[in-house]
Amino acid sequence: MTAVTKKQIDTLAKVQQIEIETGKLKAYLNKVPARINSLEQELEKFIRSVEDDEAAIEEFNKQYRAFEADVQLNLIKIQKSQEKLRSVKTNKEYQSSLKEIDDAKAVNSKLEDVMLEILEKIETAETAIKDRKQHYAQIVDESNREKETIERDAEQREEILVELESKRASIAAEIDAGLLEIFNQVKKKQGDLVAIVTVQDAVCQGCNMNIPPQVYNELQRCDSLKYCPSCFRIIHWQEQNERSE
Ligand SMILES: [Zn+2]
Repeated sequence: MTAVTKKQIDTLAKVQQIEIETGKLKAYLNKVPARINSLEQELEKFIRSVEDDEAAIEEFNKQYRAFEADVQLNLIKIQKSQEKLRSVKTNKEYQSSLKEIDDAKAVNSKLEDVMLEILEKIETAETAIKDRKQHYAQIVDESNREKETIERDAEQREEILVELESKRASIAAEIDAGLLEIFNQVKKKQGDLVAIVTVQDAVCQGCNMNIPPQVYNELQRCDSLKYCPSCFRIIHWQEQNERSE
């Protein structure tokens, strides 16, 4: 058994407490980039969907204008044919002009049907993005604000982390090097951050198993290093009045 003082074990427990806190902070901070990334991706997706819909509407408008120009050309053609009709000399010419007019009118009628369909598509698409466009600025704003909040919060936690780490270093400096080494080894074996735990009512607070009465009695003397026989963590005695700290 390593001979240690109660003061050394208490100091080690303080280091442990800080490490648990810094561990939580680090785990939290590690997730921050992913949170910001998903926020940005969500916003990009929204912006892209509005842009895509606007591009589709623009394309329908282009098609509409092209058909409209075709209709105008046909109207001019009809007008010319009607003028020609007044000066034709033969029946054959007359019939041919009439057919030109009828053909052009038929084409225009089809074009106008298609144009109506396009107008309906434009209307449907505009209704679909109207709501999104109305809330566009608000959604962008909210997303950016949330990102700022996350970043500001992360900065504050980074500062706390730096403070805690320097506090840990200065407290750890008071601990015997051999005891710190044992602490680090137990941590490594545990595979988590917790190597020293308290015992309350003879129950190990690391694994919730009972500590044998003899070990529990020796533990209260605080003059040597004791381990939980179940989880092998260092156990330490904490006075009732110290527990609320
Ligand atoms: Zn235990």
